[in-house]
Amino acid sequence: MKVVESPATLRQEISTLPGKRVLVPTMGALHEGHLQLIRLARQTAGPHGSVIVSIFVNPIQFDRPSDVAAYPRPMDSDLAACENEGVDLVFAPQASSMYHPDRSITVSESLLSSGLCGATRPGHFDGVCTVVLKLFLLTGCHAAVFGEKDFQQLAVIRRMVRDLDVPVEIIPHPTVREPDGLAMSSRNSRLSPEQRADAPRIQQALKNAASLKNPADILASARNHIQTSPLTRIDYIELIDAETLQPTTTLSRPTILATAVFYNDVRLIDHITL
Ligand code: AMP
Repeated sequence: MKVVESPATLRQEISTLPGKRVLVPTMGALHEGHLQLIRLARQTAGPHGSVIVSIFVNPIQFDRPSDVAAYPRPMDSDLAACENEGVDLVFAPQASSMYHPDRSITVSESLLSSGLCGATRPGHFDGVCTVVLKLFLLTGCHAAVFGEKDFQQLAVIRRMVRDLDVPVEIIPHPTVREPDGLAMSSRNSRLSPEQRADAPRIQQALKNAASLKNPADILASARNHIQTSPLTRIDYIELIDAETLQPTTTLSRPTILATAVFYNDVRLIDHITL
């Protein structure tokens, strides 16, 4: 497995990688969810293709610099996990080699990213689009795997690929969960034992609410279930159209019930498709 830190070296190394190149963009602190994405990438690349994993804590998608600094960076164990999964190349650049100090171009999506996580994290999806497009260009990948856990991110990236004619196939992977239902996330390790024990209520609340028929009842049920815990603070809970991601009050089209919940400063997201 090759480990490359500079974009210039990446260009050279890429030319030696055989077959279909499939990229898995990550911010590291890899868990089983990431590993399943890597396995899907391997399957997609086929026996003669190549799997690339990027590990980059992208500063321009964070609204608070303290979060960038606090983000876990267990590089040795991440590299060992990639090696173990048969990854061909890991791209792990420093921020200084990805962004010029006077950079002045940003990829901006203006519809799907306006609500939900985009509303409470201004500039987040511009940062995501910009880094993902850069990673696509740097790796020259033919396909890239993204988790459905971050369904708004997936929708925004699909839109970017469509609207900018980016020649990369976007492959979704279902949300990977802990046995108790909590969606796996690098942030789960920042929960206290008490918070961790409480957190499966998020998925439970969405599941229970999804069995109801009336949109207002669905929202009220999920909100109450989450708020019953004194440990939680709801950032948002919304019913949205699965395609446009705009708020909806009917269930006539495919609909998503989505939430973001704080445990102290740890923000967890989850959703269910109705
Ligand atoms: P991150 O390192 O958090 O930026 O995530 C990198 C990729 O892994 C993104 O495409 C995420 O959607 C995906 N991912 C993270 N956690 C999960 C999970 N529990 N299930 C499925 N995909 C995930």
